[in-house]
Amino acid sequence: MKLKEIYSQFAISFEVFPPKAENKNLFEELKTLKSYNPAFISLTYSAGGSNNKSFELIKDIKNIGFDIMPHFTCISSSKSDVEDNLKGIEEINIDKILALRGDIPDDITLIKQDFHYANELVNFIREKTDLSIAVAGYPEGHIESPDIKTDIENLKRKVDAGADVIFTQLFFDNGKFYDFQEHVQNAGITIPIIAGIMPVISKKQINKMTSLAKISIPAKLQTALDDYDDLKSFGIDFATKQCDDLIKNGVCGLHFYTLNKSYSTAKILDNIRR
Ligand code: FAD
Repeated sequence: MKLKEIYSQFAISFEVFPPKAENKNLFEELKTLKSYNPAFISLTYSAGGSNNKSFELIKDIKNIGFDIMPHFTCISSSKSDVEDNLKGIEEINIDKILALRGDIPDDITLIKQDFHYANELVNFIREKTDLSIAVAGYPEGHIESPDIKTDIENLKRKVDAGADVIFTQLFFDNGKFYDFQEHVQNAGITIPIIAGIMPVISKKQINKMTSLAKISIPAKLQTALDDYDDLKSFGIDFATKQCDDLIKNGVCGLHFYTLNKSYSTAKILDNIRR
């Protein structure tokens, strides 16, 4: 189903990544997540990964009854790589994609120079395909961006190029999400903004995320990170409150960064459906 149709009402979705080893555990977790009726599963893209392997996984996820939105990054891809990928995606009847630039690789010789920013990829996908297109948004600004205003101007380029929906970076402070919504609206952007939620599981996980992106840690979460060894049940409670508040404030959709584990996401959904 196309993204516009999906977000004509509130929807939930789950992000997973291609496992390094075998896929068996991922499929066990997906079995649990299936009973929560996600609109689709999104599958992350690793620029160095093999396309064939990724297509196989997309097909396997589809075959167990999920709609799927593959992610795709362009910074290390030539136009012909991208065309091949898009063709492959359409051939297996996928109708949506998350269009990304990707992080600048440490080895700059891997940059192909055909695409510099995600708006160019969105433009290319619009020209070449009928896919519905999602893009990334950053409630606290992208890490390379000097300020939120510049980042929103760049987000607008992606929307003007034809994006249908914005998926946000994870955040822990809903206030940052509401401010972002306001900035986006003030920029004349009217497409749905889907909130990215990551259940807190461990201190290591949070340290990694906050070293890669601008993500504020509210005082209550910081206290838990400092004081608790086992953060799982705190994380479920924290994300439940976050989701309850977002739903109360009319969020268009929730996108869960599952890290290929169903337990916390399932508990959060049990809580918010109570
Ligand atoms: P862009 O939108 O191109 O923005 C990158 C930076 O350039 C920003 O600072 C922006 O303000 C600036 N900018 C944008 N356009 C212009 C322009 N025309 N001129 C000047 N400056 C500009 N990474 C992966 O490798 N694989 C994944 O599967 C993946 N999935 C993700 C899913 C979500 C929901 C999110 C939020 C991120 C994901 N990422 C993934 C991370 C993403 O690749 C990085 O954050 C990357 O650094 C930026 O990608 P982007 O598409 O947002 O880039």
